[in-house]
Amino acid sequence: MSPYLSAQEIKDWQPESLPDDDGKSPMQRTRERMQRTGQWADWQMMGRRMAMGCVALEVTQRCNLDCSYCYLSESSEALKDIPLAEVMRRIEQIYRFYGPDTDIQVTGGDPTLRDHDELVEIVRAIKQKGMNASLFTNGIKASRTLLTRLSEVGLDDVAFHVDLTQQRQGYASEAELNRVRLDYIARCHGLPLSILFNTTVFPGNFAEIPDLVCFFVQQSDQVRLASFQVGADTGRGTDRERITINPETVIDAINQGAGTTLNFNAASAGHARCNAYAYGVVINGKVHDFFYDHDFVHAMLRDSANIRFERRNKQRSVAAMRGFLLSHPRHLLGFTSRVAQAAWRLWPDLLASRGKIGKISFFVHNFMDATELECERCEACSFMVMTGQGPLSMCVHNAKRDHYLLQPSAIKQQNKLLFFNPANGQLEDRMPGPIQVELSRKTARGRAKASTGYSHTSSPATSPAHITTPTPLESTHEETAVVSVA
Ligand code: SF4
Repeated sequence: MSPYLSAQEIKDWQPESLPDDDGKSPMQRTRERMQRTGQWADWQMMGRRMAMGCVALEVTQRCNLDCSYCYLSESSEALKDIPLAEVMRRIEQIYRFYGPDTDIQVTGGDPTLRDHDELVEIVRAIKQKGMNASLFTNGIKASRTLLTRLSEVGLDDVAFHVDLTQQRQGYASEAELNRVRLDYIARCHGLPLSILFNTTVFPGNFAEIPDLVCFFVQQSDQVRLASFQVGADTGRGTDRERITINPETVIDAINQGAGTTLNFNAASAGHARCNAYAYGVVINGKVHDFFYDHDFVHAMLRDSANIRFERRNKQRSVAAMRGFLLSHPRHLLGFTSRVAQAAWRLWPDLLASRGKIGKISFFVHNFMDATELECERCEACSFMVMTGQGPLSMCVHNAKRDHYLLQPSAIKQQNKLLFFNPANGQLEDRMPGPIQVELSRKTARGRAKASTGYSHTSSPATSPAHITTPTPLESTHEETAVVSVA
């Protein structure tokens, strides 16, 4: 039997819905999901520390780049941003599904193309619900002013996507792109933001991954996490190739760059074939594996699951950890003896670094090809996107984006029910019929652009391209949610 979902099964796959009242907490429901899919183990943080790894909140579909492995739909660039009221309703929904402390990726498209006042309100609303907000951006329009405004309302992280798939003008290698990365790091200087970098790994940059890891290690006093995604065959992007690139070869490349073998199996969130995570401590420029003692890490993760770490308040997080260790003598003993052993082993480097210790995490995410979705992984998914109908595995969403994007949103305005049409941005009195968009020279991206002669390398054609997107599936017209505007 094929491990992959058939085209019909992908079509039938529905966003999650909340049972009326099963009396279960979000954490319990997630734990049961992990158990059902054979992913429940000591290393599992889903259902133990978190009800969901993270949820993508797509606040625009527009982007100012055209990545060769882009996951967006071909219709994306022609769609108007969903109304702020609908974004706010989705934030409420995320809270209902997964509770406080949920990590929300404010993403798109590129979220910085959305009205900046609205973006600030979106981050503020996430924080007011006690959830964590990360801005996922290519950085082009993430100015110091915008980052300052967002951090003032509580933005926790900024994740910059920079790599060769973006085909930025004037940068021929990942090494040259380090200039862009350094500029972005400088923009965040002094702001209470964690800095993350996303890199899509593909044949065009695979050989450079070890050097890129070295770069991130050198910046480990400022960069908290370097995330690597294996390029997948999904979305509007023009490139499809993986060749020998898979999580194992990417991990090998990271280890090569880190100069040590990091343990990517000690902790994870979700399915083992989707995610791999390692944590390094940097002393005197050298990386040391924080998770080297597998069994100890598992025991700590299992027993400390209820400790709440506050990302923006280091002192409180340290105090919470101290409290945990003092109330668990076995772990206190294990922890202090390991710290003493490490200090003994590493004292020359500790002396040379004058006690300055950096830390950096590495994450490898293995998105699936749209035609090869493994049912078990979709069920165990730790990375949801919040659609108008509920949260859905990002891989499933990527395989049928237009089904969700080409939907009207019902908005209640002054006691009147209106329908937002994403194709024209209008609020209409009646539910629109099947929504279609027509691509133009300006809005055709990725494969649509390439197929009409608007490729990156070809000279522009003289007349606009007319491409009509597939119509949405009828069924969700009835499922359209209602949002109110004050
Ligand atoms: S988005 Fe895809 S690859 Fe990522 S956790 Fe979900 S199912 Fe796995």
